[in-house]
Amino acid sequence: MASLGNPTNTIAILQKYNFNFQKKFGQNFLIDANILQNIIDAAEVTKDDCVLEIGPGIGTMTQYLCENAREVVAVEIDKNLIPILENDTLAAYDNITIINEDILKVDINKIVQEKNGGKPIKVVANLPYYITTPIIMGLFESHVPLDSITIMVQKEVADRMQVGPGTKDYGALSLAVQYYAKPKVMLTVPASCFMPRPNVDSAVIRLTRYQNPPVVAKDEHFMFNLIRASFNQRRKTLVNGLTNAAELKVTKDNVLAALEQMGLPATIRGEALTLEQFALLSDILLVRNKVS
Ligand code: SAM
Repeated sequence: MASLGNPTNTIAILQKYNFNFQKKFGQNFLIDANILQNIIDAAEVTKDDCVLEIGPGIGTMTQYLCENAREVVAVEIDKNLIPILENDTLAAYDNITIINEDILKVDINKIVQEKNGGKPIKVVANLPYYITTPIIMGLFESHVPLDSITIMVQKEVADRMQVGPGTKDYGALSLAVQYYAKPKVMLTVPASCFMPRPNVDSAVIRLTRYQNPPVVAKDEHFMFNLIRASFNQRRKTLVNGLTNAAELKVTKDNVLAALEQMGLPATIRGEALTLEQFALLSDILLVRNKVS
């Protein structure tokens, strides 16, 4: 099978199988061989690696992964793509497992156990943009053993993942990603590298999972609830944002006392806090909630 990373071979496969793109699945296939090689290089895939690919499409990047990794598992939701992958574009490889499932419903920990003895895998994907955040959060929050996640996302989402306090893009996603991993934008990718062309610019970002996280909250779940509540009401002070979020069960007095303990003004907004400060606030409020 010839390489798919160009318009001619991609169109040939699409026509052979009479394939129609499904917008609801975020199907934009890569058609640029340089970009594909750059992604494999950015992910530092080697013959020691077990790689999970989310959304193989017609198998364009999967071919590169099969050539460079020891083992590849590809999870694809669209059943119409499975015969193309199995009988045609990936038929020559014996190191690929194709799973026809929704990535948000698959037990990824089980796959890692079966395919890599529970040792850390690499995730490499040109993500379906409509579920970028739940995919990333799902991987981190379910504590899948991971070395890194190297993914194509919308450029503005990549920017959001790597910024700190004081910028308009800073939010719950920045904090969640940076709690678990070190983000680095590896390349930007113009819309012309995809078929069909998306309406947005894209970027490849690598999230390298921390072995020793720089910040650890006593209760991760509580800290992320605090973070979400702080950014839900961005224009409000942190005190109002947190006390308005009924599910947190924090009192105004406790939040004010925690801020004072941290040397922060009562009027501060959530968007001004660093990850370290959110973790500390979370730890202090946990104790105060228990005693009050
Ligand atoms: N990897 C291919 C490439 O680079 O050319 C295709 C990338 S395309 C942006 C996203 C792929 O994810 C599509 O094949 C789409 O069908 C698949 N997909 C969408 N939602 C999915 C889900 N919930 N679970 C698994 N795959 C999904």
